[in-house]
Amino acid sequence: MAGKIRKGGDFLIAETPCQDVFTPEDFSDEQRAFAETTEKFVTEEILPHQEEIENQDFSHVVVGMRKCGELGLLMMDAAEEDGGLELDKVSSMLVGEKISTSGSFSVAFAAHTGIGTLPLIYYGTAQQKEKYLEKIISGDWCAAYCLTEPGSGSDALSAQTSAILSDDGSHYLLNGTKQYITNGGFAELFTVFAKIDKEHFTAFLVEKSFPGLIVGNEEKKMGIKGSSTTQIILDNCRVPVENVLGEIGKGHKIAFNVLNIGRFKLGAGVTGAAKMALGEGIRYANERKQFGQPISAFGAIQEKIADLTAAIYASESLVYRLAGLLDDNLSTIEKGIPDYYEQYQKAVEEYAAECGISKVFCSDVLAKTVDEVVQIHGGYGFCSEYPAERYYRDERINRIFEGTNEINRLLITGMILRRSMKGELPLQSEAMKAFESLMTPSFEEIDSSIPFATEKVTIQNLKTLFLILAGAGVQKFMEKLSDEQEILMAAADIIIQIFAIESAVLRAEKISPGLSPARQEQLAAAVKVFTFNASEEAATAARKAAYFVEEGDTLTMILSGVRRFTKYDAGGLLSAKRALAHAAIDAEKYLF
Ligand SMILES: Cc1cc2nc3c(=O)[nH]c(=O)nc-3n(C[C@H](O)[C@H](O)[C@H](O)COP(=O)(O)OP(=O)(O)OC[C@H]3O[C@@H](n4cnc5c(N)ncnc54)[C@H](O)[C@@H]3O)c2cc1C
Repeated sequence: MAGKIRKGGDFLIAETPCQDVFTPEDFSDEQRAFAETTEKFVTEEILPHQEEIENQDFSHVVVGMRKCGELGLLMMDAAEEDGGLELDKVSSMLVGEKISTSGSFSVAFAAHTGIGTLPLIYYGTAQQKEKYLEKIISGDWCAAYCLTEPGSGSDALSAQTSAILSDDGSHYLLNGTKQYITNGGFAELFTVFAKIDKEHFTAFLVEKSFPGLIVGNEEKKMGIKGSSTTQIILDNCRVPVENVLGEIGKGHKIAFNVLNIGRFKLGAGVTGAAKMALGEGIRYANERKQFGQPISAFGAIQEKIADLTAAIYASESLVYRLAGLLDDNLSTIEKGIPDYYEQYQKAVEEYAAECGISKVFCSDVLAKTVDEVVQIHGGYGFCSEYPAERYYRDERINRIFEGTNEINRLLITGMILRRSMKGELPLQSEAMKAFESLMTPSFEEIDSSIPFATEKVTIQNLKTLFLILAGAGVQKFMEKLSDEQEILMAAADIIIQIFAIESAVLRAEKISPGLSPARQEQLAAAVKVFTFNASEEAATAARKAAYFVEEGDTLTMILSGVRRFTKYDAGGLLSAKRALAHAAIDAEKYLF
């Protein structure tokens, strides 16, 4: 992809030409081949064992992981000189999306290839990679990541696990308990975070065979029951000094940078799961008859199908737009330079807000999808005979791990405001201009010759509204704004919807000219349905933020701005919903 390198968060103030966004229609043959390999693997090797896996027969997970190794699916992020493939982020997102249909297995896969392997790839010394990487990327060994503790989850840096250097300086003694460790039951290599001398937060590579590492019992979970989640207890666990990963006292960099990657990949994974769940819902709706006809003939069911199709289309557009942004930025780093991975982390961190958006938006879309798919199934959706029940349970974790959706929302707004304070994003000057526009009456003429002109005006208006509210918040609370979580959460909701609507519209604008009239109509319907729903959500968040921040005359003025800037002319909404639903019902799957 060859767009100009965009700054993280600049979508809030700048326009993006549609040619600059990466879309699923841009997948190369190689990327498609990886997707097909993954789909085939899941269908042939995992789904036939789904029930055994759900009953925690982890042998199928371990064997499946080895098979993934043989297929090259575990080495996508490792450098070529380390025996990997170092593919682009689009490919790894695509694999993440396709593997997600394997349910619990996909959690093991994601933990292994993401938080389990990336610390070693990014921070490992040549000796550490020599010793461990081949085992990990071949799937011989499974990997896990141990950050959370019983007393420290979101506040990960308050971890209590300690590390003390032995008298002879040859090893550290680790003591503490790590909580909720994915792959804990069968992993052979653990990235463990501990504080040296109760102070210096540091990462260690810990083998299962090291004396003093004890694997706890499996947690009894609500969902993803076929993934392994255990405590890892470190009881005077002896870790050789050469297994310190990265710099002493810099463990937080490892912990958090790896999570940025996890967040955008999670967006892709949950989008794949949402597509699968929707397909299941539509098939059921076509089969199930009530009042003498399939329930898919009812408007109430059709509206659900239309709304979900549109939301998943937005998820998908957002995820691959972000993959394109990351790939463009990463492609500017020269391979083989000594600080390659440091530059790499910086390039990913540039889009930390967008990674958070991917995590929150897409997991919320999956949540809505599985809830409605259960509803479409009626009573059968409540019983485990149908997969809808498992989808519903399995979904829930996505809003909790990789940083809860609350923590991610706070991070999204926090990151944007921080960039503004550092002068990396001219939010303040733009906010002043936006505020001035409140005082000037508007006579917006929409140029209908421009594709998706109505939606583009809405996007621009929402950006103006965000700037007005952000400006008002900063002016009122100054640096104390970071303590006003309710405001930050509402601001995050506006930011998220802006990025999502814009991603949906830009993709449609880019691909529409090459489509058949029928397909163009479906796409336009998806854009309309999604823009309407998302702008309503943004409007609610904006109204809330206005009440949280202002009072008196200024509040009245801002509320009138909320009304003006969230207006979206969704004429023909009902026909759009019906057209979209009919097409999805005919296709019996996610449409795009
Ligand atoms: C199945 C599963 C697998 C997991 N896998 C791993 C793994 O492999 N490795 C690993 O290290 N961890 C793992 N985790 C842990 C997971 O990352 C944490 O559960 C998560 O970070 C939340 O921490 P917590 O559970 O302690 O919740 P808490 O941090 O106690 O949060 C509880 C609630 O308070 C909110 N909250 C907390 N702090 C704030 C704040 N500052 N402002 C506003 N709201 C706040 C949260 O959003 C949440 O709603 C896993 C968890 C589960 C359930």
